[in-house]
Amino acid sequence: MTIEREIFSALIAQNAFQDEKPSVQSYAQLAVDKGFRALSSKQQAVVSPFLQKKCEGMKKPNEKHNNCQNIIGGRELVTALERSEQYKGWRCESCRSAAEK
Ligand SMILES: [Zn+2]
Repeated sequence: MTIEREIFSALIAQNAFQDEKPSVQSYAQLAVDKGFRALSSKQQAVVSPFLQKKCEGMKKPNEKHNNCQNIIGGRELVTALERSEQYKGWRCESCRSAAEK
């Protein structure tokens, strides 16, 4: 399975497209079923922004939000999804490990 298929299938499982147009989810589903390359370039342009996401950063009690600017993508994105984190709460590896301390 390609990384795109893994990401889209994880995204669908997380209902990440629930606030998007129905076409977005159908393209993502197509990418899972047939592979990302099966999409037209127009369809790819619609769903490719979902292949990466800016880290939401983290905030410890009594501390400022760390304003993390990391972009999560590829394998790290799948890991965030597998941990069943809320789509809106995805964090990069360093924020995740910092939050767990
Ligand atoms: Zn981060």
